[in-house]
Amino acid sequence: MVSRRTAHDPSSTVAESAFRGDRRELVIVGNGMAASRLLDDLIQRGAEKRYRIKVFGEESGGSYNRVQLSKVLGGAESDAIMMKPSAWFAERGVEFVPGVTVTHLDTTAHQVHAADGRLHHYDVAVLATGSSAFVPPIEGIEGDDGRWKRGVFVYRTLEDCLKIRTFAHSGDNAMVLGGGLLGLEAAKALSDQGLHVTVIHLADSLMNVQLDRLGADLLRRQIERCGIFVRTGRSIRAIRGTERVEAVVLDDGTFLSARMVVLACGIRPRVEVARASNIPVNKGILVNDTLATHIPGVYAVGECAEHAGKIYGIVTPIFEQATVLADVLTGYRPRSRYRGSKLYTRLKVAGIEVAAMGLAEPTLETDEVIQVIEERKASYRKLIVREGKLVGAMLVGDVEAAASLVQVFDRGDPLPDNRLDILCSPDAGASEADRTVCNCNRVGESMIVDSIKAGCGTVQALGDATRAGTGCGSCKGLLAQLIDRHAGQAANGAGAPRNGKIPAGASANGV
Ligand SMILES: Cc1cc2nc3c(=O)[nH]c(=O)nc-3n(C[C@H](O)[C@H](O)[C@H](O)COP(=O)(O)OP(=O)(O)OC[C@H]3O[C@@H](n4cnc5c(N)ncnc54)[C@H](O)[C@@H]3O)c2cc1C
Repeated sequence: MVSRRTAHDPSSTVAESAFRGDRRELVIVGNGMAASRLLDDLIQRGAEKRYRIKVFGEESGGSYNRVQLSKVLGGAESDAIMMKPSAWFAERGVEFVPGVTVTHLDTTAHQVHAADGRLHHYDVAVLATGSSAFVPPIEGIEGDDGRWKRGVFVYRTLEDCLKIRTFAHSGDNAMVLGGGLLGLEAAKALSDQGLHVTVIHLADSLMNVQLDRLGADLLRRQIERCGIFVRTGRSIRAIRGTERVEAVVLDDGTFLSARMVVLACGIRPRVEVARASNIPVNKGILVNDTLATHIPGVYAVGECAEHAGKIYGIVTPIFEQATVLADVLTGYRPRSRYRGSKLYTRLKVAGIEVAAMGLAEPTLETDEVIQVIEERKASYRKLIVREGKLVGAMLVGDVEAAASLVQVFDRGDPLPDNRLDILCSPDAGASEADRTVCNCNRVGESMIVDSIKAGCGTVQALGDATRAGTGCGSCKGLLAQLIDRHAGQAANGAGAPRNGKIPAGASANGV
């Protein structure tokens, strides 16, 4: 029988909780996307036999899909992106403590210290504290009371989105600082609500981490066509106004009237709990290939973790980390190891699709570069090939080849001799049977087709069965096409893989 006592129950003290039967106490600090995936993977592996699981979340409410926050910014209800409401935890015997910040761990006494003054015993602790928005120094960001002026926002949480939405009015001037993925998403959502939006970006071209100059220029033209103004090579030096934002001053002295400023200038891993607990930290919390920190019994996963010198800021690697950690903690695959992830970005901004992976520019003299520019179709495609293998690709406008390219990029498969084949006939070079359809969750076409044939007739049902489409959601159109193509072959609904327990003999990866 699983204890349902909450942290607010006075009986939930260390003295009492130190011994509760032979199951061990697994505490997860953070209730974001990494924690959510870890919970799914733990439960799939029967973790409840081994652990009592307790999850602390600083944000109130259940877990939501942060990747889809722009839906809420665009006017959708919060429920539209909810992944695990409070009831989800109760139904699975997981103790959920929302709205409570963990301050530190006493790693000698194995205690979690919460900001409400309560202590909780742990045997295994997982830090999944994510990141916070980076806020650059800006003169005048604060009012006389030391708080941010009214009209200054970051774009990170559900609460941020609801605040931005409430504040924004059609016709207002909004400045978005940052022309990366998040800034462009925020700018489009505000522009769609009738605001007069300017994106200010420090680098010389938009999305400069993922795109080269040609790709970025094409993207910029499309964004400007939506009515959004773009100023590159600039930043905001000062915010003017007494209690609320009235204008911004750029670093070249330009003065722009503004009623709101949205900061989307990057992220910083949240390492404060680790630091306060003397757990070694560099930029992120240092972990090895099992996601273990240097302190026995303490692990870290997600954007707060630094593995082999890298911190990941998108969900695919984070989901891969969570799967390895669940394998290790449950003993399902004790030798499972995380070896790092290859990065792939896919988004639709201002109606233009973008996919980018690996290098944006060649780095060796021997690297081959293939570029296809179709001005009238607003399409730009580029491949970087090293020794016959794909080491970088970017697609702007036409991303039909993305699924095949990800597959050959991921697996290091040789490209066809005529490199253009993989762009013009996307199935060349990649085997259709296992093309990656959902990159966030690494779900291949064969698993999706099997699930359709086994009776999954809707995108929602496919998501429940395989997880496809439950990350950024950009593959949902492709899922619908696959349903149209294969639904006729459905074999009476039996045997669809279920996203509950792992069937005997099945692989847990990507289930
Ligand atoms: C607007 C937006 C759009 C995005 N779009 C994409 C996209 O298209 N594709 C993509 O792959 N990625 C995207 N991302 C990135 C993706 O959302 C993150 O990589 C992912 O959410 C990281 O998961 P995480 O669990 O590590 O961190 P988070 O999701 O940030 O979760 C961490 C949680 O821990 C809680 N926490 C922190 N400290 C404590 C504490 N001391 N005590 C208790 N709780 C604590 C936080 O409140 C938070 O809820 C986007 C992010 C944003 C903000």
